[in-house]
Amino acid sequence: MTAKKSTPYTRFKTILEEVLTKIEVSPAERKMLNEPQAIHREEITIKKDDGKKATFPAFRVQFNNARGPYKGGIRYHQDADLDEVKALAALMAIKTAVVDIPFGGGKGGVQCNPKDLSKRELQEVSRAYVRAFAKHLGPDIDCPAPDVNTTPDIMAWMRDEYEKITNTYAPAMITGKPLAYGGSLGRDTATARGGFFILQELVERDALDPSELRVVIQGFGNAGGHMAELLHGAGYTIVAVSDSHGGIYNAEGLDPVRIEKYKRKNGTVAGEYCTGSVCDLERMKMDGVKRITNEELLELPCDILIPAALDNVITADNAKNIRAKLILELANGPTTPEADAILAKKKVKVIPDVLANAGGVTVSYFEWVQGRSGEQWTAERIDHDLKRVMLAAFRDVRRTAYREKMTYREAAFAVGLRRIVAAMRARGWVN
Ligand code: NAD
Repeated sequence: MTAKKSTPYTRFKTILEEVLTKIEVSPAERKMLNEPQAIHREEITIKKDDGKKATFPAFRVQFNNARGPYKGGIRYHQDADLDEVKALAALMAIKTAVVDIPFGGGKGGVQCNPKDLSKRELQEVSRAYVRAFAKHLGPDIDCPAPDVNTTPDIMAWMRDEYEKITNTYAPAMITGKPLAYGGSLGRDTATARGGFFILQELVERDALDPSELRVVIQGFGNAGGHMAELLHGAGYTIVAVSDSHGGIYNAEGLDPVRIEKYKRKNGTVAGEYCTGSVCDLERMKMDGVKRITNEELLELPCDILIPAALDNVITADNAKNIRAKLILELANGPTTPEADAILAKKKVKVIPDVLANAGGVTVSYFEWVQGRSGEQWTAERIDHDLKRVMLAAFRDVRRTAYREKMTYREAAFAVGLRRIVAAMRARGWVN
C-alpha cells in the first residue's frame, strides 16, 4: 500500500479531524467543516507586453461564512493550486473565529510567477481576477486581502475594477489597500504586530529578558521583515534572517533595519518585485556574518524560531533537529502534523498560525469597518484594539490548552471550531 501524499489540505484535515474528536459536533456539522461551501475556478487571460496572450489558473475558495462574509487573501505564486487555496481558506475560517471577528474564511490564488510580469501585466492579471469572480465578491459577501506577492497597489486595482463593474462605491470590498485609497493605518505592520503582542505576553509572563533571547526568522517580506524590526526595537537579538535566495547568520546579532534599508536601496526591480536579497553579503558589507541555506536556518541554535515565508517547512525530517524552545508561526501552515507531534514530545511550544498571524486579518476587519462607516481611525486606536483582540484570543487559547490538555494548535482549532459550530447552530443550518 502506498502512503497517501501529504498536501496542504490533507495536513489541515489531519488536525481538523483530531480536534473534532475532542469537541462536541454532530455528523452533519463535521461534514460541513470538512469541505468548502463553494469553489470557484477560472482561467484568466491577459495580453502580455510583447502582444502575446498568457493564461493563468485562478481560484476563489469560500470555506465557511457562518460567522460573517468570507475573508481571506489572494496569493500570486507559481505553486498556488486548488488544494493549497482550499487549505488556506479553511485556516482563515478558523482564524477569524479564534480572534472572534465577524467574518468567515475564504482565500484566492492565481497560479503565476509575478516576478516574470511587468507592472502593467500585473495590473491586467489583478483586474482580470476581479472580472472573473466579481459576482462572488462584495463587502457583505466575500472580501479579499493581500497574501504572498500581492500588494496594496494590487488591492487598489481590484477595488477600482470591482467598483467599475458594479457601479458602486465599495471601499469595504477588499482590505490591505493603500492609505491614499481607503487603506487603514497599521495594516502593513499588523501581522507582525499581532504576533509580537503574543510573544511579549509570553516573555513578560515568564519574566524573561528579551536581550537574552535569540531569534531566527525565515522570510523577510511583510510578515517577517516587520517582525524582525519590531523585535530588534524591543531588544531581542535577531541572529538569522532569510528570503527566497537564502539567509544570513550572526550569533552576536544582526541589524534588521540595515538589512531592510539595503534591500530597498540595492535591490534591482523586476516588475513590482525587489530581487535584492538578504544574503547578498558582498554588497551589504557586513562583518561576522555567515551565509546559510533556508534549511540550515531552521536548525540554528536559538530561543525563538519564526517561520514567516511559505508552508510545509518544519517537517518530520527536520523537527528533531530544531533547537528553538518556541515557534511563532507567522507563515500559514509551516509545520506538518508529523512535525507537530515531534515538537510536542520535545516540549517545544508552537504558537499556531491561526493565532500567531491573525493580526493581519484583525486590522483588515478594522479597515472593513472604516470602509463601511466612512470613519478614519487613528494609529493609536488601531494599535490599542489590535492588542486587545490578540491578547483576548491568546487568553482563550491558553485557557483551553490548559484545561483540556491540548497543544496550542489543538486549542486554537477547538476555540475557533466551537465558535463556527455555535453560529451554524444559531442559524439553524444543521441538526
Ligand atoms: P511576502 O511576499 O511579503 O514575503 C514573503 C517572504 O518569504 C519574502 O522575503 C520571500 O523572499 C520569502 N520566501 C519566499 N520563498 C521562500 C523560501 N522558499 N524560503 C525562504 N523564504 C522564502 O509575504 P508575506 O505577506 O510576508 O507572507 C509570508 C507568510 O505569512 C505567508 O505564509 C502568508 O500566508 C503569511 N501571512 C501573511 C499575512 C500578511 O498580512 N502579510 C497575514 C497572515 C499570514
